[in-house]
Amino acid sequence: MNQDQSNIKSDINQNQSSIEITNMNMPSVYTGEKGGMKGINHEKIEKIIYETTKNSRIFKRREEDLAYLKQEVIALEKKLENFHKNEILYNQVTQLAKSRIEFLKEQRRFDKIWMHLDMDMFFAAVEIRDDPSLANIPIAVGGMAMISTSNYIARKYGVRSAMPGFIGLKLCPQLKFIEPHFHKYKEESHKIMEILEEYDPEIESMGLDEAYLDLTNYCKEKKIYSKEEIKELVINIKKKIFEKTKLTCSCGIACNKTLAKICSDYNKPDGFFFLDYEPKIIEEFIEKLSIRKIPFIGSKTESKLNLLNIYTCKDLMDRYVDLFYLGEESFDFYMKNCYGIGSYEHREIQDEKSISRSFSFKMNGDINYLRGILDNLTRRVLKNMERNKVNCKTVTVEVTNLTEKKTSKGKTINKGFQSGTLIFETAFDLLRDLLEKGVKIRMLRVKVSGLIKYEDEDEKGKRITSYFDNLKDAYKKQQEEKNVLMEIKEEKILNSKDINNNFKTNIKKDIKEKSKSKGKKKLSVPCADIFKLLQNMKTYSKSNNEKK
Ligand SMILES: [Mg+2]
Repeated sequence: MNQDQSNIKSDINQNQSSIEITNMNMPSVYTGEKGGMKGINHEKIEKIIYETTKNSRIFKRREEDLAYLKQEVIALEKKLENFHKNEILYNQVTQLAKSRIEFLKEQRRFDKIWMHLDMDMFFAAVEIRDDPSLANIPIAVGGMAMISTSNYIARKYGVRSAMPGFIGLKLCPQLKFIEPHFHKYKEESHKIMEILEEYDPEIESMGLDEAYLDLTNYCKEKKIYSKEEIKELVINIKKKIFEKTKLTCSCGIACNKTLAKICSDYNKPDGFFFLDYEPKIIEEFIEKLSIRKIPFIGSKTESKLNLLNIYTCKDLMDRYVDLFYLGEESFDFYMKNCYGIGSYEHREIQDEKSISRSFSFKMNGDINYLRGILDNLTRRVLKNMERNKVNCKTVTVEVTNLTEKKTSKGKTINKGFQSGTLIFETAFDLLRDLLEKGVKIRMLRVKVSGLIKYEDEDEKGKRITSYFDNLKDAYKKQQEEKNVLMEIKEEKILNSKDINNNFKTNIKKDIKEKSKSKGKKKLSVPCADIFKLLQNMKTYSKSNNEKK
């Protein structure tokens, strides 16, 4: 374990020295570690990537992003400085943060056996299997524009997936490019998934070469209880896959999906790692991880946290008060990961083929009243359709009546609905059909399905160029809104004695006023934030009262 600790340490050092070379605090997206990239010369790689990309648009954009990020971090640091000076506030926030961590910890479960399986350099491995002459040279599946997979020899040079081929060639001039053969990869993937389905019929595959398996039921059925027995099971699964495909894979076994995924990366290639179920062992394991190992922490968030002097999960854990103060949503995300709270169930199959909006209200049967709601719901559905550039073929209206019975009715037009008026008129007709005389309802839903994507070529170009600007604007706006919310929070925390049932109303009023003073018509603050805050306030005032 000390080995890993020193690995992370040296990673950090390497990252830091690369800052000096490139004058970029944002490590290149191409240098995050992948299987087989441990101990490689990050500094040299970063330098070559810098030389190759410094005049490109991507690089300029990253520089802009970084400048923006630095500004943001300066503001955050200023905020933290003031926060640290305010002893009362600091103590109160500490209490809240502590109770939040305790609350989160209660969500930990140890009754599931999750495995994440990841094929080793999948596309490259298939190519090498079919042409052994490729085994001892650096290869990349893909082309000059993009590399899909590289083998471990190429990775030693820093060549990795999702990297443009021309950069790969700069890093490793003797790199051999192989044209991808997707039909072959699909075929192999099918064989692998078939094997895995024996162990978990609900298997969740992520692309062709990765899958999450919930082994809990299988183990119960086969009376597999001990750690040794589970290890044996995993070795057997790996063996079966190898016999069928002559390909190797790496597995991680842990109490939840997130940890299993981190573990599958731990002993790559052709290895596996079983993470014990002891909370203490789990925490010790996570502490040592670099923050980049946490799923969904990308290069931007990593840079931002690095600028705040946070490099490892231990740093995240140590800075819990600051993180809580800076935003509860990300605080929850970080702490969940640090304390080993992940998903314990298979992802729900999402209905991406429809868009719907619903509204609940006090029992009502007045058609004019309902028409107003329907109008509003249709507008919201339309907005979403526009955003996704889709037309629909079917409109459905669903209502819930007094006895909680749901009834729905739909209409399909083969040509597809293209106008908002038509969608509304159809929905209104359907609603009238659903409402027998005198029937009252308490929920109304408008759903469109049979979605067809349309693409306006002219607009497509425009959209791409304005995409990043929009993204930045949206981000700025979001930050502003967060700041307003934070100001309100501070006041409220300071006056926490006055917390009463009117708190919610007050905070909403405050938000309105604050947004007015900022010259905005309307400010949308996520309700979840307010409720979370309220919940924390309650826990806090409760524990305070108990102390008294
Ligand atoms: Mg893989």
